[in-house]
Amino acid sequence: MPWRYLLLMMLALAPRVLAQGLPDLGDSSQASFSALEERRLGEEIMREIRTDRNYYDDAEATDYLNALGNRLVSRGADTRQDFRFFLMQDRQINAFALPGGFIGVNTGLLLAAQSESEAASVLAHEIAHVTQRHIARILDQQKNSTVMSLAALAIAVLAARSNSDISTAAATLGQAGAIQNLLNFTRDHEREADRVGLQILEASGYDPRGAAVFFERLQRATRMYEAPASSYLRTHPLTHERIADIQNRLDRVPYRQVPDSIDFQLARAKLRAEVDTPAEARAFFEQSLAERRYLSEVASRYGLAASLLRSKDYAAAKKEFEALRRASGPHAMVDTLGCRIRLAARETEAAMTCYRDAAKAYPQHRAITYEYAEALLQAGRAEPALDAVANGMRFASDDPKLYMLQARAYALQGKRLAQHRATGEAYARMGNVRGAVEQLQIALKSGDGDFYQLSATEARLRELRKIDDAQRKEEKQRR
Ligand SMILES: [Zn+2]
Repeated sequence: MPWRYLLLMMLALAPRVLAQGLPDLGDSSQASFSALEERRLGEEIMREIRTDRNYYDDAEATDYLNALGNRLVSRGADTRQDFRFFLMQDRQINAFALPGGFIGVNTGLLLAAQSESEAASVLAHEIAHVTQRHIARILDQQKNSTVMSLAALAIAVLAARSNSDISTAAATLGQAGAIQNLLNFTRDHEREADRVGLQILEASGYDPRGAAVFFERLQRATRMYEAPASSYLRTHPLTHERIADIQNRLDRVPYRQVPDSIDFQLARAKLRAEVDTPAEARAFFEQSLAERRYLSEVASRYGLAASLLRSKDYAAAKKEFEALRRASGPHAMVDTLGCRIRLAARETEAAMTCYRDAAKAYPQHRAITYEYAEALLQAGRAEPALDAVANGMRFASDDPKLYMLQARAYALQGKRLAQHRATGEAYARMGNVRGAVEQLQIALKSGDGDFYQLSATEARLRELRKIDDAQRKEEKQRR
């Protein structure tokens, strides 16, 4: 786990220290963490992470990551825990588990993995940290730690916010030891996470050898260019014992060839096209196509068309897209890229038709819903935008982004009650209940809306106030 999130975790654990400026933990810290508390803590940390400039909020890449992660969870892991996987734009090869089943994966890790089984092996290891309750145990241990170290860690977090070199900030405060203890605690669990991770990998139909191959790749990468690989190795020290242990287990596993999904290849091509500079990405894909050195021709053509789009070379992007279309079967990401190129090339009507057809063919593909609704809103067409959002909500009724798009459509129509009601629903789904209550109060005072809308909003406001009251009480108890 990167320093900053470890420290963020401490910050979330010690709100009273920050609020009062004086450490006063009392005896309540003896109780152990409940699953619900852990989830709330994870959500609190996620609210911070979502504002991080490196949070990589791409619907297609994130949906692929969640499909992969949830396949591992549903077929291999012994757990009732909900998992959410998210991406951070970072060249460092790393992944980390947070409290509450949130698992972060750096874009560098997906780009370094040469097969889906390799990527899956790292996810399976992190999932195992959660199912074996390693994080819960760290939290319990931390709850029982001394008042001073918690307070000092919280101060270190504040220092770190204005200083990117967090370990220096912590060390200056003399807390390096306390943090080191915490990491030692996780180090004890690496072997268990390896063991359970391999089981998850195998049960989910991936090649367990992906783990060994990926570790070898990491070691080679570390020798060649120190920086990107070292962050995974620092948080997951790769001892000889660990490698021997994994090899030992693999000796008993029959060889299995597992082909990569086209989704894996397309998600990686998209990341490479978006993360590098447009010129770098374009050169990379042009060269791999010219030399026929690729894992998937379709993915390389997708990557080239996406890079050309980013370079704003729309004529070339359209031409390359036609080649991609001929090489690929039907796929939501391919269709979406075609619509995206048309929209950017200002062929607005063709783009709208393209998105409308794509939304019909792939109603669960979030990127299509977002981009179609956004395009309609930009063109001032509120009504079809509301239809597009409603269509998306049939499959994702808890997606705050859809409610924000809905709010903008109502704003275009001048419907103020509906606008603030939708904004409130978005806030509630982002975990900001207080903001949601405020929005519903504004909605009721807006002066429009019929009797039915008013009473429905009042009922919802009562419900949200109850949740808000319960949360306030809980916070008071924590203090
Ligand atoms: Zn680990």
